[in-house]
Amino acid sequence: MKKVHQSIKDYISETIRTIPDFPKEGIQFKDITTLLQDKRGLELTSYMLAQPYRNKSIDFVVGLESRGFLFGTNLAQNLNAGFVPVRKPGKLPADTLSEVYALEYGEDSVEIHKDAIFKGAKVIIHDDLIATGGTAAAATKLIKRLGGEIVGYSFIIELSFLKGRDQLDPSASIESIIVE
Ligand code: AMP
Repeated sequence: MKKVHQSIKDYISETIRTIPDFPKEGIQFKDITTLLQDKRGLELTSYMLAQPYRNKSIDFVVGLESRGFLFGTNLAQNLNAGFVPVRKPGKLPADTLSEVYALEYGEDSVEIHKDAIFKGAKVIIHDDLIATGGTAAAATKLIKRLGGEIVGYSFIIELSFLKGRDQLDPSASIESIIVE
């Protein structure tokens, strides 16, 4: 199975396109649209994201705006869980909680609906990519404020040189299909 999983990872990795200097100089942008448009890539990524969390009685997958929505609902369905969006400020229509986090220059914030998660719910946080970990760390705080338990994190790509995993809940599992 290990060998099979390695060749699946290679396929997924080769199907993601890297765009140099987007959106600004020095950033190697990982473009998952080429993965989404490839039916085999779509199926294999869905399978690999769900694999570590099957039979773990997950209540919710929380997807981070906006590329965390693309596989997030699919992952929720594969885990027999609900899907909850964490969004940029001002997008969610009902009562929200908000968390501010630091960017390289300045700050940003994310929001969740107050009634999205029940106390004691088992939650997975999903995004396409973890870079500095700021977004996933802010989402972690939101879920904990609502009384949710972070069982794990789920990413397609982890940029390990940015050490984003150091920002995450140390008691949760961190699963990335591709680590660079
Ligand atoms: P961070 O909060 O630094 O972990 O950034 C994570 C968010 O930024 C994710 O939603 C990613 O989609 C996006 N992101 C950061 N760096 C990249 C990159 N090199 N390629 C594609 N998306 C990126």
